[in-house]
Amino acid sequence: MHKVAIVGRPNVGKSSLFNRLIGRREAVVADFPGVTRDVKEGVMLYENHRMVLMDTGGLWSGDEWEQAIREKAEMALHDALAVIFLLDPREGLSTADYEVAEWLRRLDKPVVIAANKIDSPLHEAYLAELWGLGFGEPVPVSAEHARGLDTLMERVLEHLPTDDEDVPEIAPIRISLIGRPNVGKSSLLNAILGEERVIVSEVPGTTRDSVDAEFNFAGQRFVLVDTAGIRRKPDTSIEEYSMQRSETAIKRSDVIWLVINATDLGDHELKLANLAYESGKPVIVVVNKWDLVPDEDLKRTTKDLDQKLFHISFAPRVYTSAINDYGIHDMLAEAMKLYAKWQSRLQTSELNRWLEIWQVRQRVPNFHGKPLKMYFMTQAETAPPTFVIFCNRADFVTRAYENFLHNRIREDLDLAGIPVRLVWREKG
Ligand code: GDP
Ligand code: GDP
Repeated sequence: MHKVAIVGRPNVGKSSLFNRLIGRREAVVADFPGVTRDVKEGVMLYENHRMVLMDTGGLWSGDEWEQAIREKAEMALHDALAVIFLLDPREGLSTADYEVAEWLRRLDKPVVIAANKIDSPLHEAYLAELWGLGFGEPVPVSAEHARGLDTLMERVLEHLPTDDEDVPEIAPIRISLIGRPNVGKSSLLNAILGEERVIVSEVPGTTRDSVDAEFNFAGQRFVLVDTAGIRRKPDTSIEEYSMQRSETAIKRSDVIWLVINATDLGDHELKLANLAYESGKPVIVVVNKWDLVPDEDLKRTTKDLDQKLFHISFAPRVYTSAINDYGIHDMLAEAMKLYAKWQSRLQTSELNRWLEIWQVRQRVPNFHGKPLKMYFMTQAETAPPTFVIFCNRADFVTRAYENFLHNRIREDLDLAGIPVRLVWREKG
């Protein structure tokens, strides 16, 4: 992956820009090994270009641009293909800014010069001085208000090779929040798209009144389906509306967040859980308002959930509090994990080894003393993983045995949390 570094003296907003471009708050940031452990790295996604973004902010000790810092920075930047030189021109340039500029010129890497904290077009008058640094036209940006980021990235991309290998078409994970009114869907939506984690208001295709919201998390693109429907509060026949909306949202999604109120679980949840289950798409049960459950009730509440949601007991659960911003990271991380598994394809040889083992280990159903025989198994489809088993008599397969196999598949074949399908075919 191509590397792009953000360089600039302290306080110009490097880490703000880094977080904004990476698009997440609870950064999953890998430390750079060795001497340059002060460099933060994260994978960023921009229009199907994946790149590693570096924030060199940790290298500075004070305001001085010293020899020691310079050396570390040179090491950190050795494989960067482009540099974003960030400045805060509002109070004029400092000596350190000029020194960094001089250093960058000698480093001889492509530099895109960006003026940060240009929060409104009025501030653009500050740009004039930056031309004098000799790196061409400065790009006005505001890390805080997500201004100018598209232009900045377009300028950066001009300096990166366009080899297709490194820029695969990466599909977003389409995901929806479903649930009864008042369980906290809008609050979760806001927490996810929260100001700092930012949804990149500037991602192409995302407009202010668009119904879907697009955002990045840990280098993965997400599309949150029908955000307008989540916010809408119809006055009449609320549950009916919620059912219809959920049905449409499920159809348009890859992964589903089924939001429930930790302290108030009703029939409606079961209906929605069924709907989601029947879609064959991974469901994450989001147990919201967890903050309202007193400590002494935690166990009982969990047990209650186990019982009521028995038929989708395989679905992973995350516990959240939208108002405390708790568990949001888990929601996203779990979605990424399930999405990958949902699309996985297993080797036929592995499946048949598995089938052979369970045919021996567990009693197979039989009919009047005639046992079910399973000959061969193969994966016919992904998303959801669908397996075909060739057998002597499909009508010998009992519901209980099929459930048993579903559970074994999930457990043995690394498909935990994933709805799987079995298709039976008779073979003479
Ligand atoms: P770094 O030391 O270069 O990493 O800078 P930080 O990202 O820590 O930002 C320094 C300060 O500038 C913080 O108080 C930020 O909130 C503020 N800041 C960052 N970006 C902007 C911006 O676009 N506009 C304004 N007004 N302030 C910003
Ligand atoms: P929606 O109808 O599912 O979109 O639900 P809202 O997001 O509008 O939330 C309904 C009510 O529950 C609001 O008063 C929220 O402030 C409150 N709420 C949402 N999430 C939480 C939470 O995690 N804990 C608590 N205590 N209240 C919450």
